[in-house]
Amino acid sequence: MKRETILAQAGSRWDETTGSLSMPIYQTSTFRHPALGESTGYDYSRSGNPTRAVLEETVAALDGGCRGLAFASGLAAIDAVLHLFSPGDRLLVTEDLYGGTFRLLDDVYAKLGLETVYVDTSSVEKVRAAWGEDVKALFIESPTNPLLKVADISALCALAKERGALSIVDNTFLTPFLHRPIEHGADICVYSGSKYLSGHNDLVAGLLVAADKDMGEKLYYYQNAIGAVLGPQDCWLLLRGLKTLALRMERHGENALKVANYLKGHPRISAVHYPGLPDHPAHELSRRQAEGFGGMLSFEVETPELVPSILSRVKIFHFAESLGGVESLITFPAEQTHSDMPPRLRERLGINERLLRVSVGPEHYTDLIADLEQALA
Ligand code: PLP
Repeated sequence: MKRETILAQAGSRWDETTGSLSMPIYQTSTFRHPALGESTGYDYSRSGNPTRAVLEETVAALDGGCRGLAFASGLAAIDAVLHLFSPGDRLLVTEDLYGGTFRLLDDVYAKLGLETVYVDTSSVEKVRAAWGEDVKALFIESPTNPLLKVADISALCALAKERGALSIVDNTFLTPFLHRPIEHGADICVYSGSKYLSGHNDLVAGLLVAADKDMGEKLYYYQNAIGAVLGPQDCWLLLRGLKTLALRMERHGENALKVANYLKGHPRISAVHYPGLPDHPAHELSRRQAEGFGGMLSFEVETPELVPSILSRVKIFHFAESLGGVESLITFPAEQTHSDMPPRLRERLGINERLLRVSVGPEHYTDLIADLEQALA
């Protein structure tokens, strides 16, 4: 079945009793057993819930994976993945990744003995050079947040496999509709479901997809043991959002390209980062490995003084954290999403006082461009 069909029909044939097209919300903590030693397949909602199961199966099918798992947030999903490792293990991690993942690794897991080495994953050579003893996994975010650098997923997953390490890909920006890392050799895909998958800026959720049964079982163990599961109401809302993912991703991508082209020609803008632009260093790679460039871009204004004025003048873009919803958002990474990164590291990576990140929504592109035009005037 094609992905558009999987998405539009998610959960719509589940309820044989009433024929409900919409997946019912199983708002229950527990399930009655038919008799001693028998189960309906559900015992307790932390361990499994039908509404969550349909969401998890849908995401696994979209990604071409073996098992999906839904969590209370993207960071809760990443936390479950990090439980696969032990003190002394080392992870190679994309250097300009989402600030919350950086905080989890650098503050929380560093104390527990997990060592993180940050590397520019847009260069296979740099990853190869950074590889040392005890590297147990490669954690890639691609395209990166907020600089939109793109990793060669097939080459990096092959390198990890060759060295006996796991490959984990945060595919939040592109979603499995546009890019499927498991088909390129990844062991685990990570998603903040708060973004494109739900798509309406109205919930916080996380998802994992495991490539094989064994990894699915390991991750399920931690999902159940830690318990940061997504509740049935939010599972339903996420499923509802997923039904229009295909339509939304197409429009996000079309609009982002138009906005990127507009920004590129603006005299007050010194750089635009969007893989859909032909002069982006990974434009050709992105064309090869994905089916679109997504709706995220970032740009640098000429001087830092322009930043507060743009943020206070936008009328259609919302000055807010997050991304991937139907309302276009504009974010100042240095003070918002990446504030927990040390300033020196931020500056070295290019997450500077002139950088703004934009989540281009599906509104009419002429309104979005006009809004940026008046904010930059
Ligand atoms: N991964 C990426 C790329 C993100 O942008 C985010 C949040 O912005 C996360 C993970 C964390 O997800 P959540 O906010 O749902 O915990």
